[in-house]
Amino acid sequence: MENLFLFIFLLNTTVAYSNEGPCKEHETEKIAAAGEELDSVTGKVIAKLSLTEFYKKSKEINGLIVKGSVSIEDISLVKAGATIEKMLSKREDIRARMILNRADIVVIAKSENYCDIPEARNLRDVKTFDGRSFCDICGGGGVPGRPITTVCEDNLLKTTKDPYFGTEDILTHEFAHAIHILGMEERDKTSLTNLYNKAKEKKIFEKNYKGEPTYMMANEQEFFACLSAAWFGVHNPKSLSVSQELVNRNSIREKLPDMYEFMKTIYPE
Ligand SMILES: [Zn+2]
Repeated sequence: MENLFLFIFLLNTTVAYSNEGPCKEHETEKIAAAGEELDSVTGKVIAKLSLTEFYKKSKEINGLIVKGSVSIEDISLVKAGATIEKMLSKREDIRARMILNRADIVVIAKSENYCDIPEARNLRDVKTFDGRSFCDICGGGGVPGRPITTVCEDNLLKTTKDPYFGTEDILTHEFAHAIHILGMEERDKTSLTNLYNKAKEKKIFEKNYKGEPTYMMANEQEFFACLSAAWFGVHNPKSLSVSQELVNRNSIREKLPDMYEFMKTIYPE
């Protein structure tokens, strides 16, 4: 029965994709192969079905899968793959835990919003912790129960409709959340908690340049994600989310040397 389901799954995927036209023949092969991977994402048949219907493009990046609907551009798979590869290049153990947790990446096409993807359809009427509608967000980090990290294609490709105007790389921020929650070992998580508390005690990172509370210090998850973007130089130094004291790798080294040493154990320098 299991084999029969898998066969139907692969057949559907191939047929759906070949409808795109003969120029996609080469990719049809790739998609069928990726379908086998997607089949192991979850044991729930309903989830398998929705994945089959929705996800038509995917690329495996050393065990993790970057995927999206038929509407995403192929280059998005490559671009998102390069970002996560850079972030995971230091720690194979983190990569292994993320593969185990199926912490894959979803690119949200320009014509879609976050609530269109199968894993987030139950969030249509839900707000984020800071009061935004889930449907309006450009991306989200993987968490237990919904381990995918998402990014909107407009930001990934820096189109003219990028809600961040090409100044920030949201995938780096969101995938840092997944690394923290689904990839780090407990010892790393404890270190990070202590480092966040220590940074909070300094009371110099709490406000942005307008004197408003920073998103970065809202909790240890945002602390790590914002500093990860700063580490990789893809953070907008003028962002209201962060303290002007911590906008790049050098300022982390200068203002939070212990955090710098910790981040060196997670990411390449
Ligand atoms: Zn965040």
